[in-house]
Amino acid sequence: MVDNNCIFCKIAAGEIPSTTLYEDEDFRVILDLGPATKGHALLIPKAHFADLFALDDTLGAKALVTAKLIASRMKKALKADGFNLVQNNGEVAGQTVFHFHMHLIPRYKGDKAGILWEPKTTTPEEMQEVERLVRGC
Ligand code: AMP
Ligand code: ZN
Repeated sequence: MVDNNCIFCKIAAGEIPSTTLYEDEDFRVILDLGPATKGHALLIPKAHFADLFALDDTLGAKALVTAKLIASRMKKALKADGFNLVQNNGEVAGQTVFHFHMHLIPRYKGDKAGILWEPKTTTPEEMQEVERLVRGC
């Protein structure tokens, strides 16, 4: 349920101080210490799940509902022009803290936060291969 060596377990439990924007029985939403933009926050479940694949389904559904609620409040309060929800899984995907979390990132015109990717090319063969592999799984 909780991992004693996990910093987000300690933050979610309130054992390590954080700037908390929201808290309920399942989640804490805190400000990120290395923000992409003003107000960048993290939604952290109080129970330990390493990543999306380990996450409890009921809690996962509630995480999105809670993210929507807090993102709506943040967009209004901070007068953001847009919003990114980002969720990284695995080192190669940019995950650095191995306790599931969602990034709530308010966006402002001209903020230059480097969140989006450069589109690459694909081929019909590659697309068909992916379709075959995933649908056949
Ligand atoms: P990720 O790279 O998706 O695993 O995201 C981890 C995030 O946690 C990064 O954006 C860090 O800046 C943030 N972070 C790490 N330690 C803390 C902390 N003690 N308090 C707040 N944010 C943190
Ligand atoms: Zn944890």
